[in-house]
Amino acid sequence: MDVQTSVAGARPPSSPYDPDYDPLVSRPGRGQDYAPTYWVATAGPPPEDDGPVEGDADADVVIVGSGFTGLSAALTLARDFGVRATVLEANRAVWGCTSRNGGQGQNASGRLYRSQWIQRWGVDTARRLDAEIRDGFEYWKSLVAQFDCDAQPGGHLYTAHREKKMGFLRSEARVMREVFGYDTRILSKDELRERYVDDHEAVGAMLEPDGVGVHPLKLAFGYMRQARALGASLHPASPVLGWRRENGAYLLRTPGGTVRARKVAFATGGYTAQGIDPLLDNRIMPVLSNSMVTRVLSAEERERAGLKSTVFITDTRTLRFYYRLLPDGRMQIGSRSALRGADARNPRHLALLREGLARKFPALRDVEVAYSWWGWVDVSHDMMPRISQPDPDQPLYYAFGYGGNGVSFSAQAGRRLAQRIMGQDGAPWDLPIYDTPLPGHVFAPFRRIGQGLLYRWYYLRDEVL
Ligand SMILES: Cc1cc2nc3c(=O)[nH]c(=O)nc-3n(C[C@H](O)[C@H](O)[C@H](O)COP(=O)(O)OP(=O)(O)OC[C@H]3O[C@@H](n4cnc5c(N)ncnc54)[C@H](O)[C@@H]3O)c2cc1C
Repeated sequence: MDVQTSVAGARPPSSPYDPDYDPLVSRPGRGQDYAPTYWVATAGPPPEDDGPVEGDADADVVIVGSGFTGLSAALTLARDFGVRATVLEANRAVWGCTSRNGGQGQNASGRLYRSQWIQRWGVDTARRLDAEIRDGFEYWKSLVAQFDCDAQPGGHLYTAHREKKMGFLRSEARVMREVFGYDTRILSKDELRERYVDDHEAVGAMLEPDGVGVHPLKLAFGYMRQARALGASLHPASPVLGWRRENGAYLLRTPGGTVRARKVAFATGGYTAQGIDPLLDNRIMPVLSNSMVTRVLSAEERERAGLKSTVFITDTRTLRFYYRLLPDGRMQIGSRSALRGADARNPRHLALLREGLARKFPALRDVEVAYSWWGWVDVSHDMMPRISQPDPDQPLYYAFGYGGNGVSFSAQAGRRLAQRIMGQDGAPWDLPIYDTPLPGHVFAPFRRIGQGLLYRWYYLRDEVL
């Protein structure tokens, strides 16, 4: 690739962070600074990048988006195929969800449970899908082991926030054990409190032994350094604003010049803007998720709150809380947020997290919040991701729709994306996450109205009925 580079070292932001950014109405940014996350504050300086696109250029493969997915794809292309991909990023490197999440690496993909896979596709396909997700989880763990990212193994706790949810957890644990062969266990409230956490809402829990909490930005910076060391280039402040086809290639328009690409892959997650290509429009329901991190808790405060483990936790609400004790003694908690970017700063969304933390851990009711931020999660209309070439006649590919379960699965998604771009046989391409494009939705233009109604229904179902 012949893109001219203009800087050595990481590119500083060329515009401030826009907290109101909304993928359904905003254009991709240009060189925006990071969201003010705990991860950004503690990851160390971003790695060297290749500067914004300046002038016209040529590339075999362009990857749009520099989160976990785009970086995993670039890494695979370089390492396994000797292809030096060009990664175009609208903002700073790793600006999207990858620098904003909870760092909970689960053996999962999409929003459906394994019992729902069986209902949707039957037990044989569900077992094959499980083998693929498990393979992906092992691959991700092999990457985690290569980079210093504060890894916290120990599994995933799924806490029942009401008594009536225990039946669901028992049934899911049985499916995990009997159909898929996992060592999934049910814990009583006392076992949970004695060994892990004194969550005052929890009446019991399911423990999945697979699960690793990570510092997501340190991990992503690891992917980025390795991908660049193997020949990939990463150009921040280079949003793809549109394109046209010419002689089978894509001419990708960025503010600094046009990049001609023989193949292009979108790894833009919940930040996929409308109007770039009909194959991408309305495939995703971008959903805002909020996160906050407290100040460091003393050993005595942790003891009083009943925090004994760094194993990460989600609860059984549909609009779930996810939380964990970070390795440096802070507490992190996240959950749903505003429907629209314009409402993201409304204090009631942070209040929801504070109240959630206080209900679970009354001793932490007034603890100071040190960091608070939000980001757009890529939820697909059928709750499962796709790694797809939506039109076989066009060399355009994408991987997204992880529905808030992308920290670990994005590694496999990026690897499969790269293999798909290179036309590799041998992967299980007939699985439901690979063999169809993401479905659209006839009501997609009205999705925010539907989302508002759903949130009210979920609240009633989670808290009242
Ligand atoms: C608050 C929060 C908490 C979460 N917690 C968890 C968790 O604990 N566990 C879990 O598994 N998942 C979690 N997730 C989801 C997880 O972070 C994502 O699934 C994952 O990071 C997706 O990575 P990605 O590379 O696909 O997309 P992203 O990291 O979002 O990257 C997409 C990139 O594309 C760029 N882009 C968009 N359009 C263009 C364009 N036109 N041109 C150039 N670049 C463009 C964006 O600037 C962005 O940097 C959470 C998400 C949020 C927001």
